[in-house]
Amino acid sequence: MIEVGERTKSLPGYPLAHIPGIKRRLIESGVDVIDLGAGDADGPPPEGTRRALAEVLDNTAMHKYSFQQGLPAFRESAARWVNRRFGQLFDQNTELLPLIGSKEGLAHLAFAVCNPGDLVVLPEPGYQAYLGGAVMSGAEPYVVRLDPARDFLLELGELPEPILQRTKLVYVNYPNNPTAAVAPLDYLARLVATCRKYDIVLAYDNAYVDITFDGYVAPSIFQVAGARDVAVEFFSLSKSFQMTGWRLGFAIGNATLIGALTKVKSYLDTGSFMALQHAGAWTLDNAESLVAPVVTELGIRRDAAVSALRSVGFEVKSPEAAMYLWVPLPAEIPSARFAMTALERQGVVVLPGSGFGPGGEGFFRIALTAPVDRLREAISRLAQTMVECRESPTG
Ligand code: PMP
Repeated sequence: MIEVGERTKSLPGYPLAHIPGIKRRLIESGVDVIDLGAGDADGPPPEGTRRALAEVLDNTAMHKYSFQQGLPAFRESAARWVNRRFGQLFDQNTELLPLIGSKEGLAHLAFAVCNPGDLVVLPEPGYQAYLGGAVMSGAEPYVVRLDPARDFLLELGELPEPILQRTKLVYVNYPNNPTAAVAPLDYLARLVATCRKYDIVLAYDNAYVDITFDGYVAPSIFQVAGARDVAVEFFSLSKSFQMTGWRLGFAIGNATLIGALTKVKSYLDTGSFMALQHAGAWTLDNAESLVAPVVTELGIRRDAAVSALRSVGFEVKSPEAAMYLWVPLPAEIPSARFAMTALERQGVVVLPGSGFGPGGEGFFRIALTAPVDRLREAISRLAQTMVECRESPTG
């Protein structure tokens, strides 16, 4: 009898994995499903991005392996964007690496830096790729609960000394998924100082860097002096430009860390489609004007959803960034039951906080992935879900 590996077995089921099947069944039976589950925009990538892709499809050279080098133009545009956006210079050949979406890069960094038995500190609730990287690389995850009372900030320096001594890698993500929390610069400075003190690699996940509201501008970890000694920062084209399916992102960091990640990836993948990288380069060169309408629309949705939620009794904060609302639930309603009732009885996909680890219990997540009228409709169905959950406490 063949058995799968212990590492695979030890990973919990991926929280989004069962939803598409249930959703398909409901749609087939005529239910009007509103999907606020995955952080996957309902609109297309920018027109110019799509045109740039079409433009090179007949170019034979684009269809070859891209290897880790990728299309030089993508590296150039990414390095230029980093410099424009944060005033930071990174060498496009040695300090920057194209990724097949930032998810794989985040997970593979653990393979590049960890030894068996090392600790990998990760936030809970948090993005599941961190746990995947830690476990599959043979390291040991050390989960830190994010506390709403402390603005969901992972205070690395407060962990016990013996834990810090054993820690090789920490994953940090602000603007945060799923809580939508943001990190002030003095927090980032504390984080970098702790990483430098204990030689901990800092994986700074900045997938939502440009999805910010009310004048808030999210920083790069490299705005903190000394971060280059320890940090690798991950960027994604998925959210800013509605390009989730394209799988395009990149990492920046010092040549040793980027070199190690490059080496690992050269054994596991052969780079992303160069035509996509060509269009990605155009997109990054035009980032500021392309991201503006995306953020404007998300801001309108945020305001509409927050006020609709409050009007039906959910006490939700209006976030400064990211494309999510992290909504508290009453203690007697487990988030998994709420989300399943919302889906099965009301045709609304939201994610239970517990899907982001036990530390996410007590909340559910709404992604702002539908227009305002659909969000309002979804929220009135969520109010009904609440009534149903209260009426039948055991589900
Ligand atoms: N980090 C966070 C926090 C995310 O939420 C996501 C996507 N949901 C990613 C990274 C990965 O994005 P991608 O692989 O599409 O670049």
